[in-house]
Amino acid sequence: MFSKKFDKFEEKVSLSTPTLHGDELKWMEEAYKSTWISTSGENINEAERLVAEKVGVKYAVALSTGTSSLHLSMKLAGIEAYGMPAVGHGALEGHRVFCSDMTFDATVNPVVYEGGIPVFIDTEDDTWNMDPVALEKAFEIYPEVKVVVCAHLYGTPGKIDELNAIIEKHGAILVEDAAESFGATYKGAQTGTFGHYNTISFNGNKIITGSSGGCFLTNSKEAAEKVRKWSTQAREAAPWYQHEEVGYNYRMSNVTAGIVRGQMPYLEEHISQKKAIYERYKEGFKGLPVQMNPIDFENSEPNYWLSCLIVDDEAMCPQVRGEQDVLFTPEHGKSCPTEILQALASINAEGRPIWKPMHMQPIYRMNPFVTREGNGRAVTNAYIAGGVRGEDGKLLDRGSDIFNRGLCLPSDNKMTPEQQDRVIEVVRACFE
Ligand SMILES: *Cc1c(COP(=O)(O)O)cnc(C)c1O
Repeated sequence: MFSKKFDKFEEKVSLSTPTLHGDELKWMEEAYKSTWISTSGENINEAERLVAEKVGVKYAVALSTGTSSLHLSMKLAGIEAYGMPAVGHGALEGHRVFCSDMTFDATVNPVVYEGGIPVFIDTEDDTWNMDPVALEKAFEIYPEVKVVVCAHLYGTPGKIDELNAIIEKHGAILVEDAAESFGATYKGAQTGTFGHYNTISFNGNKIITGSSGGCFLTNSKEAAEKVRKWSTQAREAAPWYQHEEVGYNYRMSNVTAGIVRGQMPYLEEHISQKKAIYERYKEGFKGLPVQMNPIDFENSEPNYWLSCLIVDDEAMCPQVRGEQDVLFTPEHGKSCPTEILQALASINAEGRPIWKPMHMQPIYRMNPFVTREGNGRAVTNAYIAGGVRGEDGKLLDRGSDIFNRGLCLPSDNKMTPEQQDRVIEVVRACFE
């Protein structure tokens, strides 16, 4: 237990919660007064126009969640790669799909909705995203793979050029999961423009929100029209309900779109607030044996959605995680994510472990996992016993190492500098 005494925040300092500005209510009210509160109306049209313009894609289709956008993206990619499936079959049925490993499970579940088999690609140290070297390795092992889904973790763009060069060389299709990275850029272009089919999310804790919701982004008119049609039950142009394809009820409501519309003008403001939080942490942790989540500043400008830290290997106190519980032994001058999270909770501040890698999840324990060295399953089970290290002294499997040593810090826009200073003090106290 973390036993040092610090004053508790009266109101919880959160990881990330909605930050509202007032315009949201105006557009919601307009929807209400006009009675256009369902799945069509001016807010939807405007939200789509604003998002497409901001990201720099030809088409944005507003949907009920980011997950539904990823689902329809997977379906489109599956049909593009393997043709139209028979009714009752997924578009990726029986086909392997390369997936980011250290991410939220909503990146991966849509692969399974369409019958695909996720193959997890290990993480690199420079941005905590899909490792191009491991991806190349995966194509050596599974040259037949035609679909790849990549997330940009915590709003930090991955090594997009390297990944895309490999994906293109192998004639595969990139589905981009920019759910966390709306507003982030890579070499001047927004995330959400790099794949054939791309997704952003307006979930309650994202950089801007619609309470829920997401957008499908593409430059393909045909794909946008398909998603528009599928998301509203796949009706044909007939006087009655005529159906040639399976439909979904995935469209965004005009009320949700009102919130999105009201939030859009504040995207850049949120990003600069989040950036200030990241920089304040970076400054505040100077001299501690920790690093902030890595950013490729040369090529990218993140949206700084969540600030994270990773404890240096030598400064880790013993910490053992089971499937549902965790133990650690406090040591002088050392700490671990569990102790830091407990310390944060003790002052009513919210942190979170790093996304537990998908290859470590019980549901995906039988799925292939590829590291730089090849079959990651050969090393990953050794993680529990402390991991297998390469010649450079690093764990061969990067994802589980980052999960072991990393955590997300309170990153709420509304956190004051004084509150953040107390959070920093508490983290520092963990290493005393
Ligand atoms: C939030 C998130 C999603 C899902 O978005 P929803 O709008 O919540 O469905 C997908 N992928 C990642 C990486 C996310 O963080």
